[in-house]
Amino acid sequence: MLSKRILELAVHKGMSSVLCEICSKKATTKCETCRVTYYCTPDHKLLDAVSFHRKVCEKLAVIRSERPLPFTETDRINEAEAMLQSKKEILKLAEIVTKKWLLERSIINAYPSAMIAWNMARDLRSEDSFEVIYPTCLVSETFLLLGKPSAAQQYMVQASWLSQKYDVLPATILAQLYRLRGIVLMAFENWKHAREAFSELVYVVALEYGVDDIRLGIPYGFLGLSLLKFDNIDGAMASFHKMADKWLHFMLTQYENKTMRRATETEMAEDEAKQDLEFQYMEAIIVFQRVYDVVRRLGISSVTDLINFKILCFQVLAEMRDNNSKEVVVYREEALATATRTKQSKCVPRKRIPLLIEVLQDDFLLRWERKHNRPRTIATKYLEMIKAINV
Ligand SMILES: [Zn+2]
Ligand SMILES: [Zn+2]
Repeated sequence: MLSKRILELAVHKGMSSVLCEICSKKATTKCETCRVTYYCTPDHKLLDAVSFHRKVCEKLAVIRSERPLPFTETDRINEAEAMLQSKKEILKLAEIVTKKWLLERSIINAYPSAMIAWNMARDLRSEDSFEVIYPTCLVSETFLLLGKPSAAQQYMVQASWLSQKYDVLPATILAQLYRLRGIVLMAFENWKHAREAFSELVYVVALEYGVDDIRLGIPYGFLGLSLLKFDNIDGAMASFHKMADKWLHFMLTQYENKTMRRATETEMAEDEAKQDLEFQYMEAIIVFQRVYDVVRRLGISSVTDLINFKILCFQVLAEMRDNNSKEVVVYREEALATATRTKQSKCVPRKRIPLLIEVLQDDFLLRWERKHNRPRTIATKYLEMIKAINV
């Protein structure tokens, strides 16, 4: 009798009462390094191991291990403060890692950190703190991109419901919420409400950062995509041009200042603004690709050529930034072909076109790549060209 009881206690302390780090199902296995992180199956253990856990294994060991009570009140307070700090760091890291996996379209890898961020946020704050909104958005987007729109919608509703409890919310959180609403509603082909969400997104971002800010680029791209569904071609094109002009201007400025390169992991870890920008950049590539695809489906015309030309120029610059010389050549050829067609149309002042063709035919990007000694002049020319074809 006694031995059975001891066994029960042992099991209780071991696995049966603990839950999977990721899905909250009953745990059957754990991380052998920290010995405080549990999983339902070896599958979830492996998934977390490759996508997130190794970044926090050590920290979790400290937070979750049972330790003797501190002697003094001061020690107790210090320890509690250190614990809180560690948890905040894990939450932040989980949010960043999730966002990165989502943007890299490695969705299955985003799943563990998304769930951990969500659980950690609720544990750290309270269930209905506004700081839970962003992790909830991340979980929703993860499910959406995993092809589970219903689950995505549930979390989206939860995030919206949370936001309703507050009269005032930080603009960054509101922007995350509107962006998520837009993309989830878009997946449900609820274009009317998606358009509303994206309009709100543009409004919030413009109000917070000003109309010239690069962060307004992606919201305009999304707004354009939803406007296109209402056959509002002019509105959609105006939005796409706004997005393209902002990004081209931004990248050409970086190019001129010789700062056009991908930020390193360390730089991003140390500088939140840099990291945010890198994420914007990764998303811009995805949104531009989407815009390019839908615009192509409209067929070739002077209107579509113009926006496609700008997107191709963006792609040329993006590939230059990542030092992909082969892709630079491919996009450059395509941009050139589009520009040649645009020449025949009357929507662009004709006298500007020769400059545009000249610049593209000049192999200027390749020259730049070979560290030719007149990059500044060429970049200025290019800038002029972009300004010239603005509609
Ligand atoms: Zn699990
Ligand atoms: Zn571990």
